[in-house]
Amino acid sequence: TPALSIRNLRKTYRNGHEALKGIDLDVAAGDFFALLGPNGAGKSTTIGILSSLVTKSSGTVHIFGHDLDREREAAKCCLGLVPQEVNFNQFEKVIDIVINQAGYYGIPRREARRRAEECITQLGLWDKRHSVSRQLSGGMKRRLMIARALVHRPQLLILDEPTAGVDIEIRRSMWALLRRINREGTTIILTTHYLEEAENLCRHIAIINHGRIVEHSDMASLLAKL
Ligand code: ADP
Ligand code: ADP
Repeated sequence: TPALSIRNLRKTYRNGHEALKGIDLDVAAGDFFALLGPNGAGKSTTIGILSSLVTKSSGTVHIFGHDLDREREAAKCCLGLVPQEVNFNQFEKVIDIVINQAGYYGIPRREARRRAEECITQLGLWDKRHSVSRQLSGGMKRRLMIARALVHRPQLLILDEPTAGVDIEIRRSMWALLRRINREGTTIILTTHYLEEAENLCRHIAIINHGRIVEHSDMASLLAKL
């Protein structure tokens, strides 16, 4: 089963703006995939539909074979999402942020704590587990967002512009981290407007522009064309 399969996805916002004009996208299980495109291309709209924050106008989405409309809960369980903006409660402790996220997936409290500790360790935040999130550096906040997205052990991790606005050192450590997560078996899709980021990390790539996929290929053949 593919990790993600999108067919003829369309989104027209209420103001009449056609943000997605019929998108087809296939991502294989285990892949590291980039959705690349300039600002305004439709990347966040696509991610928003996957995370149910944006309602699609038409089209179908399957996540590991589960239809996002008809099997929403099953589809959601397969998916971990890292939004572009840091959005946790600034005064909540690191460990509690991750435990509470597990709660949203109905994971019992003891198991939630065990998994939260595991994720926090994996993301190098163990020493900060009792800090409130506002005390974390920018790079740590990014890692906390990833820890939170992984706590229910999704098979597919989607990151919206994971390194936008971070300095080069944090970017490189994020890249190493994402490679490791992918190597351990999680399919990763990220959106980016840096070709360099896609080139460094991803095996397959789709380029989106003005709400259409204009290229869908493996990284090597794309680079050969440029
Ligand atoms: P939906 O069609 O999913 O219900 P809406 O059209 O109601 O979405 O818009 C959702 C929100 O996004 C509104 O509050 C709207 O003001 C805001 N919004 C409108 N235009 C833009 C834009 N170009 N970029 C980002 N947000 C916008
Ligand atoms: P990207 O993430 O690639 O920068 P977006 O998906 O955010 O692109 O936006 C795609 C297009 O849809 C842009 O032209 C944007 O202005 C518009 N848009 C995004 N959100 C809304 C909204 N809520 N209402 C109206 N237009 C929107």
